[in-house]
Amino acid sequence: MANQGDAISCDVAVIGGGPAGSTAATILARQGFNVHVFEKERFPRFHIGESLLPYNKPLFEDLGVLDQIENAGFMVKHGAQFHTGDGSRSTKFRFRDGSFTDHPTAYQVERSRFDTILLDHAATCGATVWQETPVTQCAVDAKNGVTMTVLAPSGTEERPVSARFLIDASGVANFSGNRAKLREDHPHLRKVAIYGHFGGVQMPSGEEAGDIVIVRLKDAWCWLIPLSEQKTSVGLVFDKTALKGVTPADLFYSAVAQNPALQQRMAAAEVIGKLHTITDFSYTNRAVVSERLVRIGDAAAFLDPIFSSGVYLAMIGGKAGAEAVADALRTNTALTSKMRRYEKRCLSNMHTYRQMIERFYTPDMMEVLMSPREFFKVPEAVNAILAGRLDGSWAVHWRLRLFYLLVRLQKARGILPRIPALR
Ligand SMILES: Cc1cc2nc3c(=O)[nH]c(=O)nc-3n(C[C@H](O)[C@H](O)[C@H](O)COP(=O)(O)OP(=O)(O)OC[C@H]3O[C@@H](n4cnc5c(N)ncnc54)[C@H](O)[C@@H]3O)c2cc1C
Repeated sequence: MANQGDAISCDVAVIGGGPAGSTAATILARQGFNVHVFEKERFPRFHIGESLLPYNKPLFEDLGVLDQIENAGFMVKHGAQFHTGDGSRSTKFRFRDGSFTDHPTAYQVERSRFDTILLDHAATCGATVWQETPVTQCAVDAKNGVTMTVLAPSGTEERPVSARFLIDASGVANFSGNRAKLREDHPHLRKVAIYGHFGGVQMPSGEEAGDIVIVRLKDAWCWLIPLSEQKTSVGLVFDKTALKGVTPADLFYSAVAQNPALQQRMAAAEVIGKLHTITDFSYTNRAVVSERLVRIGDAAAFLDPIFSSGVYLAMIGGKAGAEAVADALRTNTALTSKMRRYEKRCLSNMHTYRQMIERFYTPDMMEVLMSPREFFKVPEAVNAILAGRLDGSWAVHWRLRLFYLLVRLQKARGILPRIPALR
């Protein structure tokens, strides 16, 4: 039985100190609100999700943390490469070639360090950060506000928390969404990811040294993300059914052995630490906001990691969600139109990536992607989405529609050569 500790009272309680929670806490603390972040782990801690998008950069600037990120020595990412598993076909996207993107580079980050920079920055900006302090219970009342229980680092003391607003940034733990039974899975995206850090991986060199390499196998795909010259993050994503009767490690290493594009890169690779496995990570909560509650980042929704959009969406959601909460606090209103607008925007961003993600798993989209031609600047529009441009630009929007039409035509009529390695 845990002891009762002193009560904590604040304007906003944030569950989780990942990129979404840190972003929201920074925004609110800088506006003078009393914000407390409760994080169950002690940072730095391992986390997957290491390839960022160019449009992350203006967010770092807004938060006042750009200098720290730039000086942290993270690998600079100039683009993305897609290869087939047999090594017969490939294509490259350079962010600077996209006429619809303003930011030519991004970073590949080791999350233990990156997340610590963001969380420490939130504290420097005035947020109170509690680490090794899991939230164990929570109730939100439209009239009386938020009451929570957290477990202090000793694990023997429970502390009551009261707040005017709750921001749930608990990641795929989906603290409030699961308890309210809001989670909806995506039947087409029932996947398993098996991943780890490796030394000795053969990665591109020169200007391509920071590229993310995506290898598309018949029924799976692999990411190779360079974190430093010595360390590469490698992960494979399969349909969850592939796990039947095999261990995750066997599934991982047999896919590597069977695909020349991976075998050659991983010939001298050795795992650093251990392989990790996560299943069923794609879902959307039916509601993202409700009275006195805003969900941000993965605690709102998470889709497949293929386009490296997770951290970016978590941070833009963190910023917009926090601004909506600030407005609600100032007007002393439990549910505002700004919160509703945030929810709409959040779901529409998810929809943009979902359209790309679901098509990615068809051979047709890969065949179109691997034959980029100067066709009304369609590849540049795809490039803009890969970079994280989500402002609803018409120039990007209609070209994306055209891209999807080409994918449909490829499916129905085979307008481009089929790639046997994908079928
Ligand atoms: C296999 C895989 C690969 C990915 N690759 C990429 C990629 O290359 N690029 C990319 O941008 N994204 C990627 N992502 C997605 C990315 O990891 C997430 O989108 C991102 O971390 C979301 O940030 P967040 O702050 O919402 O959640 P998180 O970063 O998960 O942070 C949530 C925090 O909440 C804490 N927490 C949870 N429950 C509690 C509780 N009860 N009390 C207190 N604290 C709690 C957790 O400890 C955690 O620190 C990947 C995801 C997966 C599954």
